[in-house]
Amino acid sequence: MIKLSIPHLAGNERKYVDDAVESTWIVPLGPYVDEFEHRLEAYLGHGNVVALSAGTAAIHLGLVMAGVKSGDEVVCQSLTFAASCNPIVYLGAHPVFVDSEPDTWNMSPRWLEQAILARKEATGRYPAAIVVVHLYGMPARMNRIMEVAEKYGIPVVEDAAEALGSEYDGKKCGTIAPYGVLSFNGNKIITTSGGGALICPDAEAASRVKFLSTQAREDRPYYYHTVIGYNYRLSNVSAAIGCAQIEELAERVDRRREINQLYRQGFAGVRGVTIHAEPDSGIKSNFWLTTVLFDETAVSRTPDEIRMALLEKGIETRLIWRPMHMQPVYADAPYYGEKCDESIFDHGLCLPSGTTLTDNDVQTVINAIIELL
Ligand SMILES: *Cc1c(COP(=O)(O)O)cnc(C)c1O
Repeated sequence: MIKLSIPHLAGNERKYVDDAVESTWIVPLGPYVDEFEHRLEAYLGHGNVVALSAGTAAIHLGLVMAGVKSGDEVVCQSLTFAASCNPIVYLGAHPVFVDSEPDTWNMSPRWLEQAILARKEATGRYPAAIVVVHLYGMPARMNRIMEVAEKYGIPVVEDAAEALGSEYDGKKCGTIAPYGVLSFNGNKIITTSGGGALICPDAEAASRVKFLSTQAREDRPYYYHTVIGYNYRLSNVSAAIGCAQIEELAERVDRRREINQLYRQGFAGVRGVTIHAEPDSGIKSNFWLTTVLFDETAVSRTPDEIRMALLEKGIETRLIWRPMHMQPVYADAPYYGEKCDESIFDHGLCLPSGTTLTDNDVQTVINAIIELL
């Protein structure tokens, strides 16, 4: 079976986990949590990283730190995974979805501004925050997004759960907006079995996030609480796995980019098949997943028919994230756009992209798809 993306062990996982167990640091927190945070900070060239139990938890706390409250509205790109916007609802706030642009597949700066103005008109208030996503590792147009956000004074949470190692204008994704989110779930570019991180703007914010993620316990001899807390810190054992995984991160990014290159070469000149590429030189994707668009005028099968035919040949692919405004649970949320995201969903497919794949595996996928066209 050629899988979409599976965990890839780096080498030192067992050693560090054994050490964590032997030193009885199997409880939450401990030296590996600090070490993992330091290694992430070194890789990102940005301080104030807080390791958490999931990327979803990081989005939740990012929104808390942005000041989102019950009854607020938060703008989010519609073409994403539900974890980007579910935390908006955890806070009693309401998501407002916006369309993607065709070249990055991410939040359209133009529709973002339209949505902000329309919500001000409709509710008398600006949205309380913006969640922008670097989908499949492809960076969003952060300069334009930040320009619009700053124009209206709206804080941004950057969902880089799929984009660790991606760069925009030489800056690592996750470090561009005041708050950035990483995920170390099983199928992401590196994993801690489950985990995430919130990249904070300064030491004071990071300290507040640590406080909130450990039950908001005040510094007193008895338990004393002035705000609602969460149990969101990463465990020391998970962080030990992360310390091993990050040792290979640079190679993992290079390999995912190489796999993308192999797909591009393999489909060069094939009618109706477009591998999603970086639109300009300021945008560098980690190509967490290589994605493809099929042109319906040249390809007789739908992406789902191609997916099922590939599955029969032992090749796992996945349809594009179904936009949030098309989800029953978000049927009532406002949407601003021209359905570019729906078109990507209708025509796209995610190809096997994990770093455990050989060049031969990639060629097998390419040949199988060409046979089906
Ligand atoms: C994986 C993912 C998340 C959530 O991360 P978890 O660690 O699984 O909670 C959020 N946003 C996007 C875009 C993701 O792909």
